[in-house]
Amino acid sequence: MTKVYFQNHGFMHCDLRWLVNATNYASRRNLSPPTTWYDLPTLTLVIDHPEGKILFDTSCPRDWESRWAGSGLDDYFPYDNVSEEEYLDSSLKRLGLEPSDFRMVVLSHLHFDHAGNLRLFQGSGARLLCHRAEKEGALAIPGDYQGAFVKKDYQDGFTIDTLEGEPEIAKGVKLLDLPGHTWGTMGVMLDLPNSGTIIYPSDAIYMKASYGPPPVGSPIVWNSLEWLNSVEKVRKLAERHNATVVFSHDSELVRSGLRLAPAFYD
Ligand SMILES: [Zn+2]
Repeated sequence: MTKVYFQNHGFMHCDLRWLVNATNYASRRNLSPPTTWYDLPTLTLVIDHPEGKILFDTSCPRDWESRWAGSGLDDYFPYDNVSEEEYLDSSLKRLGLEPSDFRMVVLSHLHFDHAGNLRLFQGSGARLLCHRAEKEGALAIPGDYQGAFVKKDYQDGFTIDTLEGEPEIAKGVKLLDLPGHTWGTMGVMLDLPNSGTIIYPSDAIYMKASYGPPPVGSPIVWNSLEWLNSVEKVRKLAERHNATVVFSHDSELVRSGLRLAPAFYD
């Protein structure tokens, strides 16, 4: 029987305005409104499936401060509220898992907070996968960093296979094509016998405020129209399947509603 573990790897911080447009604009009477220093969780999914274990996303690395130095990400998005047991390698160990236990590692996209631990799977035997458009776009950025991409996360010494469309990578585990946040952002839809359908759209939908309705965009969007279409696609799928939608960076959800590893959905 399939078990799905949502792992929270602690919290990054950022100005909430990176995630949700239209918060706290200045006005004539308030030229410098305070903003929110938001603590955003960083999640991965362990899909313990009879056909083989799948990891969806890899979160941020332990050496974020040196690794991101020069990109500005260490300053704008510090990964500074994380305990020893929350780092990806520790949290896998808590589930009794090592990188070599995985059949595949799927990257929803190649941003620094999703592809940051790909290194751990080098030589593990796990097949690394992302969307074709994502790999093409991310490899083509000029220089070592651009936006939320840190090229060494996914470039040096890796073979990342690509896919397109919406393949069912294991029975009841279907990838969703949700472009907009980046070229090839993917989500995953899980059909589970007891928990029903769960949709994890990754950064196509950061949080409840992004989902709406109406959807509220963010400055970190590659193509706004595609992003909007992706959000509405998730909404339609969720209605059709009576699904639970789990947002990728919603601290309230992580602190109050989401079942976190070692508990699981099945
Ligand atoms: Zn993210």
